[in-house]
Order: sequence, then structure tokens, then C-alpha cells
Amino acid sequence: MTDWSIADAEKLYRVKRWGGGYFEIGENGNLQITPDPTNPNVRIDFKAILEEIKEEGIQMPIVVRFHDILRSQVVSLNKTFRRKMDEAGYKASYMGVYPIKVNQMREVVEEVVDAGEPFNFGLEAGSKAELLTVLAYNTNAESLTILNGYKDEEFMRLALMGRKMGRKIIVVIEKFSELLTLTKLSKQIGVEPLIGIRAKMFVKGKGRWEGSGGDKAKFGLSTSEIISAVNFLNENNMGHCLKLLHFHIGSQLTDIRAVKDAVTEGARIYSELHHLGAKLEYVDVGGGLGIDYDGSHSTSESSRNYTMEEYVGDIVYGMMELCDMEDVPHPILVSESGRALTAHHSCVVTEVVSEIKPNYQSFDTSPGEDDHLIVNNIRDLAQNLDRYPNSQEVYNDASDWKEQAINAFKLNVLSLGELAKVETLYWQILKQLDKRQLNVDVNADLMWELEEQLASQYLGNFSVFQSAADTWAIDQILPVVPLTRLNEKPTINCSLVDITCDSDGKIDNFIGDGEISKTIPMHPLKEDEQYYIGLFLTGAYQDVMGDMHNLFGRLNEVHIYSYDDDPEDFYIEEVVAGSSVSNVLSIMQYNPNAMAQDVKRMIDKCIANGQIKPREGVKWIDFYEDCLKGYTYLKTNSKGSLSVE
Ligand SMILES: *Cc1c(COP(=O)(O)O)cnc(C)c1O
Repeated sequence: MTDWSIADAEKLYRVKRWGGGYFEIGENGNLQITPDPTNPNVRIDFKAILEEIKEEGIQMPIVVRFHDILRSQVVSLNKTFRRKMDEAGYKASYMGVYPIKVNQMREVVEEVVDAGEPFNFGLEAGSKAELLTVLAYNTNAESLTILNGYKDEEFMRLALMGRKMGRKIIVVIEKFSELLTLTKLSKQIGVEPLIGIRAKMFVKGKGRWEGSGGDKAKFGLSTSEIISAVNFLNENNMGHCLKLLHFHIGSQLTDIRAVKDAVTEGARIYSELHHLGAKLEYVDVGGGLGIDYDGSHSTSESSRNYTMEEYVGDIVYGMMELCDMEDVPHPILVSESGRALTAHHSCVVTEVVSEIKPNYQSFDTSPGEDDHLIVNNIRDLAQNLDRYPNSQEVYNDASDWKEQAINAFKLNVLSLGELAKVETLYWQILKQLDKRQLNVDVNADLMWELEEQLASQYLGNFSVFQSAADTWAIDQILPVVPLTRLNEKPTINCSLVDITCDSDGKIDNFIGDGEISKTIPMHPLKEDEQYYIGLFLTGAYQDVMGDMHNLFGRLNEVHIYSYDDDPEDFYIEEVVAGSSVSNVLSIMQYNPNAMAQDVKRMIDKCIANGQIKPREGVKWIDFYEDCLKGYTYLKTNSKGSLSVE
């Protein structure tokens, strides 16, 4: 393996570039995790996790959650704000919130609240169900609870109930009429609300979610509405309840300039309001802190051209400079980063169950007596390839013969056997062409074409729609990396397909060497060894947005905590079982118990009329019931394959 090094693997899969300091390729060729970069002594080998998972009999695919990474990101964001504020001499504090829509899993919310406790880090909710959650889970009385999104009367009542409980709940007004409901209810109930106003911003974020800003944004008040809101509150003697200015110009902001512009615009509105007598205490800069999914450090849609440090610095300094210029107090800064806190902490692990090779199986192509001219022509080309140095021409001719053959077959001119010969010869020619030392400058298109046509498909035991929705919905790039054997040269170029019966169920956008690639090199599958791959950075949105296409349900989850005293530096704190077939059927209105009884009745009938023997019948009934209780994904044997052992 002299022609392959760990450095080559790193160059190919870019683990360090998207890994955020948490992931790295170990010298032993396994993916490794440093859950807390400030403590590099704790280093977990993914292979050790896989072995333990296998020992415990947990079925693939699984979500692996690294709680320490989540904690570390929460601490890191808070400390970065503190450090930048100290450095700048900022005269107010930072009180961030975590928007739970990004990942509402209870374990995630609990961990964020716990890790954020020393910083009074709070929660944000954008719907009634989320509000009910944060009321119960934001247990720190000092921290903020921010409420965004459209609200009905019940929503407002719940918020005011929180105020009664003495909580710092800020209702952010998204449209003017919400203010009328809120003031009316607060008078009725007899408790003062804390009010925020979301400003519709002129600046637009660059990237996929740029629609969150600009004139046509769905949320927020225009300049004139903001002034009306202030007047309305003053007229109702509630001017002092207005506490916060909020803006959010979109998620995954790719260009730092959008952040700077938004802060400037927001700071201007804040200071103008101050001059008008509205003494707001907080400015909430929303979410948008991006993740470098493709490791390119660029403004491509799956990346960002800045770091957390720069993002925080630009907010703190931008706000401070403008406030000083306008001679208004520095506001308490709030941010609503969700993606940046959660993306790294979880990944999806699955096994490749088989390789789907392109169509070059060997059919006997030796001449037959009645072979059609097309067959003879393409055979002649295949056998005398050396005489044709122009590779593009060979490819064109071969493709042409193949197409002609298919048409001739349809017209009953070519037999099925003849067509099989043409196909086999076609793939032989392509493989031969691929072996030629082609010159990029001359044959770029052809090389691309060959790479794509000859690529294999690795069949992964997972569903894109459940576990990587954004790769399908918005062409989001997620890093895909083999978890072991990274010290071996990966020689199979392939794309990744899932087990749904949907041709969209595939991943064919990968981090390439410099540009996005339709295929990714992986290692040849072995008969007697599982091949595990990881889909990384799935902790934000992907974890919770998936659907049950084809009735593939939620994944088994393994929660990992690091533990320095353990020989492997970790322990599995909890295993959360994924959906059973019964679970997903119940959601679709079926009654699995009744189904089992129906099947039992049918089998009993078969036993009665002698079609099935009684003992065998009982076994079939048990089997049906076991499968109902079982996992929705493929069940592989101990070697990770689908064949019968
Ligand atoms: C979605 C959302 C967020 C989270 O944005 P990220 O880019 O994931 O940090 C924050 N605030 C509001 C209002 C949102 O709608």
C-alpha cells in the first residue's frame, strides 16, 4: 500500500476541513473522534464504537450522537461571544438561545440547556408545540425564551402563562395584528409581556435561504409598521414592555458580508428607536451561522467563507461601533444559532450491502452464423481497438452501435441473444477506453462520461428521505466517508443508492477534489467483512426532518459519551430503539394487532384444509408477528450481507 497514505485519504475526503476539530483520519486508517478539542487526550476510534454496537446486537442503520460535541459547540459559541466582548470592551452581555426547530429531540434540547446553564443560554420556539416544549424544558430562570413564528391566541396565553411563572419570555411580533392580541390578553390576564419586534430587513442573505430577508420576506414589520408599533404600545402605556429588536436574514449564510450588512442595518434601527424613546435592551441577530459542509471555505451553497470567531467578531464590533457613533447604550446581544450548534454532533452510520455494477457481465460474444451486421461491426471494433487511437471516436461509434442495436431489437430485427452480445461488447470497449492514458486537455468530456458510465452504485442500508432529506430536497452536500480502511487506496468509483423504491433515493453529489463530483472512490467490498460508511454533519435539520417514504422509519440511536478512564475513551450511555414496523404502520392508521390476527385466521384456515401442517403454521404466525415488531430496514447477516448464511 505504498501508493496510498493517510494524507491522500485526507485530501480525498477532506475530513479535517469539514470536521470542525472533532473528526480526523487516524494513522490506523479508522475515522477518529476528538469530542472535546480542548482535551485531545480523549480520542475515540470509530471502529471501537462499531464493534460495541455489533456486540450489543443493534441493527444498522444507526444514528450516532456524540453528546460531548454538542456540549462543546454550545460552550464554544458562548465563550467566543464573551471573549470578543471582553476584547472589544463591549458594555453588555451575550444571552443566546437555541432554536429547537433545528433539532427538537429531547436529548438534544436537554443537553443544550445543561451545557448552556453557566452562560444562561436559553431556547427559542417557533410553534405552539415547540412553545409547550420550551416552557417545560427551559428550566434556567435567568435565561431567555424567545418566541418567533405566527401566533394564535393560545400561543399568546401560553407565553403569558410563562410570564406568570416569572420567566423571561419574549414574544417577538411578526405582524402587526399580533400586537393587538397580545396587549388585549395581557390586560385580561393581568401580566405584562416582554415584547420583541422582528424587523423586515432590506439586506438579503446570500445563499439558499436568502428569501428570509428583503422586501418580500414572509416575516417581520416594515419600517413604518415598527414606528406604528412603538406608538401603539406608548398609547397603551406599554412602551416599557418593548425589549427586543429581532432580525433573521436566513440560514446557512455563505458570505460574511451579509452578516456585516445585517448588523449595520439592525444597529441603525435599534439606535433610531432609542432616539424615538423606545429604550430596547436586546438586539437579536437571529440564526444563519453556517457550516462548511463541503470543506471548501467558500461562498458555495454548502459552505461559508468565515469562521465562528469572525462571525461573532463582526457582530460584536459592528454593533459596538454603530452604537458608540449614535451615542446609545450597547444592547445585550442575542443570537439564535441552531445549525452551527448541532450539525457536527450526530452522524448516520450504515453498511454497504452490495455493489451494483454497470452492465458489463460477460456474455459469450463469439460470432454466430446469423449475427446481424451491427453485432459484427461492434465486435470488429472491440477486437481491433488498437487500430483506433482516437478514443472519442471509438466511444461515439460504440455508443452509436449500441443505440442502433436497441432500435433493431425493438423492430424484431435483432434477437435477444444478439442484443446481449452488443451490450457485452459495448461495456468491454468502455473498460478498454478507461484503461487508456487519456489526456485531460483533449478528452475531458470523455473522461467524465466514462467515469460516470463505469461507476458502480453502492447500495447502502438506509433511506435518503429519512436520514439525509436535504441531499434530495435542496442538493445539500453532506460528507460521506468510509469509517475504516482509510489507509487502503479506494479503487471503486461509485455513487451511493438507498433501499427505497425511488430513483431519487441516492446520493450523487460528493465533495470532490476542488469541485463537486458525481462519484466518490470507495473500497472494494469483501466477502467476510462489513463495509461501514458514515454520513456526517446530520445533527442539524436532517435528524428531525426525515419522512417515512416507503415506510422506512426512524433509526436506532446510540448515544456516546466520552470517558477518559475507559480504555476506549467512551461508553454508550443510551440506546434508543428506532421505529418498528408496527410503529410506522400505526401512524398510517393500520392496526398491527388486528393484522396479525387476520393473518392468523387465514393460516388457521390453511391448516384446517391441510394446505399447511399445524406446527409449520404456528411458526409462520410467529414469524409474521416478529417481523411486525422488527426494524424497518434490511436485516443483514453477521457479515453484513443479505445472503443466507
Ligand atoms: C431557523 C431559524 C433559526 C436557526 O437558524 P440557523 O441558521 O440554523 O442557526 C434562527 N432564528 C429563526 C427566526 C429561524 O427561523
